[in-house]
Amino acid sequence: MDKDKIIIGSHCSLNGPDYYLQTVKDALSYGATTFMFYTGAPQNTYRLPTDRFKIEEGRKLLIENGIDEKDIVVHAPYIINPANTVKPETRQLAESFLLSELKRTAEFHVGLMVLHPGAHVGAGKEAGIQSTIDVLNKVLAVDGTNVKIAVETMAGKGSEIGTSFEEIKEILDGVKYPDRVGVCLDTCHINDAGYDVSDPDKILDEFDRVIGLDRLLVVHINDSKNPRGAHKDRHENIGYGTIGYDVIEGFLTNPRIKDVPKILETPFVNERPPYKDEISMLVSGKYQKNWKDKY
Ligand code: FE
Ligand code: FE
Ligand code: ZN
Repeated sequence: MDKDKIIIGSHCSLNGPDYYLQTVKDALSYGATTFMFYTGAPQNTYRLPTDRFKIEEGRKLLIENGIDEKDIVVHAPYIINPANTVKPETRQLAESFLLSELKRTAEFHVGLMVLHPGAHVGAGKEAGIQSTIDVLNKVLAVDGTNVKIAVETMAGKGSEIGTSFEEIKEILDGVKYPDRVGVCLDTCHINDAGYDVSDPDKILDEFDRVIGLDRLLVVHINDSKNPRGAHKDRHENIGYGTIGYDVIEGFLTNPRIKDVPKILETPFVNERPPYKDEISMLVSGKYQKNWKDKY
């Protein structure tokens, strides 16, 4: 395999009738070298048995096309809120569902799962952080997989925790299984949380100083609809937001994070996935100013 290959993909859906086989076909049609998916609806706990998903057919196709399985990412559903100490049933659900999602992820032969660290819903950041640590320790003690969890940097919407590298580091330090946890850096989220992202190397220096670059497992490359520090979390298409094309390309091509998968979670344009255009533009390094006009 080409060692200079850029590892880039997008969020892809997992829909019938062909499920994972179709997910892989979609990713390939975007010119992607990886992808990210939810194992079911992110807002509920209903899940089909994995034997319905045509996993082996999907795997065969992705391997034939040179996609490295180690670069594929599952995103845990956002109903999981491990930081909630206010409602015991929410935290209980976070535990049981995180456990089953890890097992499901392993059944896809995927080794990496992005997880939102959660929201403290009024109990305060420290209580939230401790709760997330406790849930991770409980689940990782018994799940029996070797799926790594990438804790995502958050924008600070509502009472979200994990809005600074220091908070993420605190979570990682509390987990007793260090080789099972790392970080997902989301460019839109850190911008909205207040970081100046304009120089990717400075962000990577800061990440390295606080957490350690070896803990970075995934990068979400999104533009943002909002200015730095807005705490909004609304993703924008590449080149159309406040972060801008050059900065996003700077993260994508930075040699220090060359081996880390980069995933687009940008919005659809007129109900169509924009990923083929965003990927080809970013990989070619040629910014096309009004690329959305043809949609
Ligand atoms: Fe996310
Ligand atoms: Fe993200
Ligand atoms: Zn987001």
